[in-house]
Amino acid sequence: MLDNLTAKISNVLNKFAGKKKINDFDIKLLLKDFRKILLEADVSWTVTKCLIENLRTKLTNVDLVNGVSSYDYFIKIVVDEFLNIFKFSKVEDYNKLYNNFGISIVLFVGLNGVGKTTNLIKLANLLKQDKNKKVLVVTCDVYRSAAKEQLSFLANKASVDCFINFSLTDSPLEILNKAIIYTRAQKYDFLLVDSAGRSHVDDKMMYELKNIISFIKPDYTFLTVDSIVGQSGIKSALAFCDSLNISGFFLTKMDGDSKGGVLLSLSFLTKKAIYFIGTGEKITDITFFYPDRIVSRILGFGDLTSLLEDINKKINLKDEKVILDENSFECFTFDDFKKQIKYMLDLGGMNNLLDKMPNNYNIDKSLVTKFDDKFFLKIIAIINSMTLKERIYPSLLNGSRKRRISLGAGVSIIDVNKVIKYYDKMKKLFSKAGDSKSLINLIKKK
Ligand code: GDP
Ligand code: MG
Repeated sequence: MLDNLTAKISNVLNKFAGKKKINDFDIKLLLKDFRKILLEADVSWTVTKCLIENLRTKLTNVDLVNGVSSYDYFIKIVVDEFLNIFKFSKVEDYNKLYNNFGISIVLFVGLNGVGKTTNLIKLANLLKQDKNKKVLVVTCDVYRSAAKEQLSFLANKASVDCFINFSLTDSPLEILNKAIIYTRAQKYDFLLVDSAGRSHVDDKMMYELKNIISFIKPDYTFLTVDSIVGQSGIKSALAFCDSLNISGFFLTKMDGDSKGGVLLSLSFLTKKAIYFIGTGEKITDITFFYPDRIVSRILGFGDLTSLLEDINKKINLKDEKVILDENSFECFTFDDFKKQIKYMLDLGGMNNLLDKMPNNYNIDKSLVTKFDDKFFLKIIAIINSMTLKERIYPSLLNGSRKRRISLGAGVSIIDVNKVIKYYDKMKKLFSKAGDSKSLINLIKKK
């Protein structure tokens, strides 16, 4: 997520790390680099200008506080200014959303293909599974005959109730009227409403959405925005906000090639909160938007808080060894490796794990993106075909042993070699994570 932006920003910040004093020349350089990076990432000119100007004012008037090194102070100002961009997103708002009394109606609006339907189902699943809510979903898209089937198919897959007791000749308001009556009768906590998108913003769509909003009076109207689209996405989001009273944003496809422009511009320009982000196509690929975590990520400090949450949620901490303890790096065997692979799969795959690690671990992320979860299953088959001795002493693995293993696992020798190489890299990765300020120590604290 945001790899390119993060790499560039942390490169700039790293230039200052360890400096005793940061002078005016450094600050000028930093502001110049930041401006270039932000504009290249498609961040709106208004937001870029504001951020740069605020940084200039604060950094040039640095009044050193006793005991705080100038680098730390400098970083604090940078963090604060990035947080300021997201000041409209508040944790209390999310808490309010799911600590509801009575029925809450949530409407999803947005252009075609931005991810309304997929992410509505993700939210339904999150409310049901994590927050124990009774959730009903419905679509009022009467233009595409497949809309009803698509939603009910996805709802069914996620074991979420979908309202389908209407005819395709009903108007959106008739459908919603029936759905609301049903929601009340069945005492649902949430009714999530999917609406028809368009390829671009037009008056007809806005007119229909205004009618829907005045009829159902949603508690939340989320504008779903594709985070990859850059300036055009920002423009259409502004058009939506001009016409409709939206509550905030659901930013999708943050796992993809998002440069960061939509993320960094939208909330500040519209003074509306980002509520959720979609980080993949799977039903669990949704997270609340926490400004501090995203800023930490953007600046290259990783997102260990979310990683720990994933670990606590998805891995049984009573397991004898959750993540390797430091002593075992010395003798990281293929069995340890197998165990780690299993934990990683439980945590949503290697990409998810590394995505949240701080940049200063210097992990070669390209080595990860090449592999999908099927490859990890292959690794397990290959390790299962090794003898116990080979698992402890990888140096034993000569040509004939590799051939035997490849036959046993039903894979090619190339695959066996790949796995051995990968094992070596993982060994390095885990030993890096084992240093004093590490993930492991954080996990141990929990
Ligand atoms: P809608 O037309 O706005 O309802 O869009 P859909 O929900 O049908 O989604 C369009 C496409 O985007 C589908 O292929 C989804 O799987 C994909 N999609 C939605 N959200 C995400 C996301 O967060 N990450 C990724 N990678 N794909 C997504
Ligand atoms: Mg849809």
